[in-house]
Amino acid sequence: MSSTATASNNFIRTIIEEDLKAGNNDGKVVTRFPPEPNGYLHIGHAKSICLNFGLADEFGGECNLRFDDTNPSKEDQEFVDAIKEDVQWLGFTWAGEVKYASSYFGQFYAWAQHLINAGKAYVCDLSPEEASEYRGWATQPGKNSPYRDRSAEENLDLLERMKNGEFDEGTRVLRAKVDMASPNMNLRDPILYRIRKEHHHQTGNDWCIYPSYDFAHGQEDAIEGVTHSICTLEFQDHRPLYEWFLENLPVPSQPKQYEFGRLNINYTVTSKRKLKQLVDEEVVSGWNDPRMPTVSGMRRRGYSADALRNFCNGLAVAKTDGTVDIAQLEFEVRNDLNDNAARAMCVLDPIKVVITNMPEDKVEVLSMANHPNKEEMGSRDVPFTREIYIDRADFSEDTTLGRKKFKRLVFEDYVRLRGAYVIRADEAIKDEAGNIIEIRASLVEGTLGVNPPPEMKPRGVIHWVSASHGKPLEVRVYDRLFTHEAPDKGDENFLDHVNSESLSTITGCWIEPAAAACAPETRFQFEREGYFVSDRYDHSADTPVFNKTIGLRDGNK
Ligand code: ATP
Ligand code: MG
Repeated sequence: MSSTATASNNFIRTIIEEDLKAGNNDGKVVTRFPPEPNGYLHIGHAKSICLNFGLADEFGGECNLRFDDTNPSKEDQEFVDAIKEDVQWLGFTWAGEVKYASSYFGQFYAWAQHLINAGKAYVCDLSPEEASEYRGWATQPGKNSPYRDRSAEENLDLLERMKNGEFDEGTRVLRAKVDMASPNMNLRDPILYRIRKEHHHQTGNDWCIYPSYDFAHGQEDAIEGVTHSICTLEFQDHRPLYEWFLENLPVPSQPKQYEFGRLNINYTVTSKRKLKQLVDEEVVSGWNDPRMPTVSGMRRRGYSADALRNFCNGLAVAKTDGTVDIAQLEFEVRNDLNDNAARAMCVLDPIKVVITNMPEDKVEVLSMANHPNKEEMGSRDVPFTREIYIDRADFSEDTTLGRKKFKRLVFEDYVRLRGAYVIRADEAIKDEAGNIIEIRASLVEGTLGVNPPPEMKPRGVIHWVSASHGKPLEVRVYDRLFTHEAPDKGDENFLDHVNSESLSTITGCWIEPAAAACAPETRFQFEREGYFVSDRYDHSADTPVFNKTIGLRDGNK
């Protein structure tokens, strides 16, 4: 799988190359990522971020981070802060200061007055129900509003009073005068301003009217000198309107809009509205719950920014919506962790092994490489003691088990402890119910880094943790949040497809001391168990908490 998009799978790159060749836009490339601060960023946004920032980087241009904050009712400063953090974490730097659509509100207002003076906008008093009736249907042209021919003076006066809060919400709107018979519904005298008596997270109570997305977006692009305004396919039908505003207003530049297919991933949802529902209904613990397909959720799960960028850059940028297999994302995550995560030992389902021929107070400090083929990742000390833990599944009393079939510890047979000695299982101690509670073993001297004689050949290598020096930890294991491949595409409520067993918490497990002492957000491969990360919020050296990121192999959750 390629980790960088090639020219052939990104038609926007081809357009930019042609523009540069033709000397368009004075040879400049300016893009923008324009989130609405009404939720956290998700994997679909990551694709848009990689595309916009990536193309700007590639062609020596700039990319703005601009908050499309024209709808105060759903927006919040919390989301502004989270979005900035996520973009930076993904590894991108926006040009100059963060931009806000709301800082252009004054300019938009002046442009609305401009349209009124040109006879191209009017205040309309139709109720929302009447307006929708006048709009017609796709197959039937609309009718002109009875307020369409108001004089410029009257329109200017009404708009001013709308702005000042003299009228109730829903009683009046400002509309563009375009064409009520257009086959494109977006051109049937679209709304430019609505009355909304709401507090805005940037402009406070300055405004009682707020511009529509359509009246804002293209003008924002023009003010910022955006050359290539890249958005998703649902805006294709809005493009004629985007262009209408640019033609009819004295804007400082003429950006062009290009649409590409949204990213959908199976077994997940990528809609802020639905993700918000998961948060509000407490299906998950928050926007950054490790099961969420949000950037902050995936980060907390242990996905690295590199893995996310590799995934996004490998996606086709096409003119159709598509669904990508989640396995493709998981492939990138695993690939990155295999290369970059330090190795450590953690026993998830412990059973104690007492090495009877080792003195009680002996602590042998073994040095182990942090990565099998990356010397630069250094090494750590691992204490080896008389009492250790191994995983319950790594021991069997069944001496008839084939050596190839069970490469672990078997009663009266040999196994190597990872990075340490070969041991032999001599005895299994059981409780009254017959459950094994302890294994007695003996160490084969002289086998540290050295093969034993053939009759003591170990069946395999297993991981272990010192019982006296290891640390107890909490491990959170995640499964898919949805049991359905397309949770939000059918007739049912997507919440009906939530996997009720998507989180399991394991306690009573043990980790080697060096790994327990790591900083939050340290990624590991726990030998033979999978990839794990110390939790960004809940982990500390005193109370280690790790999230399982992903299994070692595909299908191994
Ligand atoms: P949602 O439907 O999840 O609310 P949105 O499009 O309303 O998403 P915005 O904050 O408006 O969210 O999106 C910011 C940018 O990210 C837009 O340019 C949008 O086109 C892009 N974007 C959003 N979702 C996806 C997706 N699934 N794939 C690619 N780009 C996306
Ligand atoms: Mg949107």
